[in-house]
Amino acid sequence: MICVTIACGSHTRMVAEHERLAQEGVKLVELRLDFLRREPDLNRIIPHRPTATVLTVRRQQDGGLWRDSEEKRLMLLRTAIATEPEFIDLEIDVAEKIPLFGKTRRIISYHNLETMPENLERLYLTMLAKNPYFIKIAVTPQSLSEMYLFLNFIRRKNEEAKQLGENGIRVIGICMGEMGKAARILSKRFSMPYTYATFSEDRIIAPGLIVYKDLLDLYHYDYIDQETAVYGIIGNPLGHSMSPLVHNRAFIEQKINAVYIPLQIEESDVEDLIRLAPELGLQGISVTIPHKTTIISQLTKADQAVEKIGACNTVVFRQGERIGYNTDYIASIGSIETALDGSILDEDSVLRNQTALVLGAGGAGKALAYGLVQRGAMVTVTDINPTQAMELARHFGIDYIRWEHRETLQPNILLNCTSVGMYPKVDEMPYSKSALRSSMLVFDAVYNPEHTLLIRTAKEKGCKVVTGIEMFVGQACYQFKLFTGQHTSPSKMRIRLKEAIARMNWA
Ligand code: NAP
Repeated sequence: MICVTIACGSHTRMVAEHERLAQEGVKLVELRLDFLRREPDLNRIIPHRPTATVLTVRRQQDGGLWRDSEEKRLMLLRTAIATEPEFIDLEIDVAEKIPLFGKTRRIISYHNLETMPENLERLYLTMLAKNPYFIKIAVTPQSLSEMYLFLNFIRRKNEEAKQLGENGIRVIGICMGEMGKAARILSKRFSMPYTYATFSEDRIIAPGLIVYKDLLDLYHYDYIDQETAVYGIIGNPLGHSMSPLVHNRAFIEQKINAVYIPLQIEESDVEDLIRLAPELGLQGISVTIPHKTTIISQLTKADQAVEKIGACNTVVFRQGERIGYNTDYIASIGSIETALDGSILDEDSVLRNQTALVLGAGGAGKALAYGLVQRGAMVTVTDINPTQAMELARHFGIDYIRWEHRETLQPNILLNCTSVGMYPKVDEMPYSKSALRSSMLVFDAVYNPEHTLLIRTAKEKGCKVVTGIEMFVGQACYQFKLFTGQHTSPSKMRIRLKEAIARMNWA
């Protein structure tokens, strides 16, 4: 179950949002009275509440907004419990000051906004002694290992509680921060009774809290169960990564019981993630900046492209093996060959003996240069950072040209693998209009926006073009096949991706 938190400054809005959530089928709502700007008027929000309700008045030290005295807060809690909401949230240290009343069930809570408690078992036992209906423990793990130990503890306690039947006390475990999003989405895997979510994006009142619509529509929370296979993306930052959207939709459309989650982790956590993958139920991961190189040392097997490019964007966990792939290069090279009336399946590639200029010697530049060389093209690379470009040229045995001289080359294929032109700096392009020739094929790895200034200008000039959307969709389809063994529809993925980018840019 999802408990949606409403945290807003006005009573009128709180009531309206509660009504809306009820109409949308939400069954449990937390009202954060500490967010109300005026003195909370329980008569306006409790008697006609449209769903089961948790009343919470959170202190600032626990991440709340309550500004008045502690005495007044306790008085409000006592008055609140007398209105008999379904649940009341009481911090562990005040629980004894607010006696049990009527049918209201007590959620005894603990918040640590900085770290982990020293002794979880002791904390749990203390909370258990305070007459809880549920226990809620919110902590801030400093590493993935800490997060795992915590979640394992929560799972154990919930399983023990299930054995006790009606007398068992279930625990909601919350890991603050971006890394903890995974635990919020996977709450059922840890047998938690429910997970918290926020009403809207502008109300992320606790770090890592997810918008309830995203939990339902993006992660398909209602369909997750103990059997659900878990996939994810590791990177930092993950921001508005589009990968969860395309993979989760494909899982639903193809009726595969799986979920794809964001795992924003530090480089120092990569090794732990690999170690803990089986415990977290992870069967495969996408890897993005800055972990594409770090991950390689954790693989037990890798395809040739990973070794040659020195970057891995996909890991599959199978029978104790951790197998690395690079689907970036094959997707983009495939799209370019198709645009030139060839196919990635042709033994003799349309790219053979074509001249190609790769702008940018980072992750995408390396993948594209590798693919072009594999298919027989004559490749030159350049980058604003000459050392990086020279290193790449030496690695693949290709030519290098200084960034300032790039337009003296007029290649058959021009590839932008820098971030120039990416949202929000959409008025920039890495190669001038006057240097473009209608005979060129122009590829741009940037996918937001799809029609970068470079792509638009190249089209005007009569060039063939391939956009970063094709690369993104292609690599995601290859990944999906590696993860699940099944094909997914590139055209559906393309539509979803374009819609999501449009929504994001309008927001
Ligand atoms: P990266 O590893 O940071 O490489 C980008 C390279 O371009 C770096 O060497 C960078 O130099 C250079 N560069 C940056 N700004 C430049 C400028 N103004 N002029 C010249 N060179 C410049 O990034 P990446 O992973 O390769 O990604 C590059 C672009 O491709 C991004 O926009 C990314 O979103 C896109 N991409 C798309 C897909 C897809 O599926 N469509 C997949 C991967 C990447 P410095 O390091 O000195 O900044």
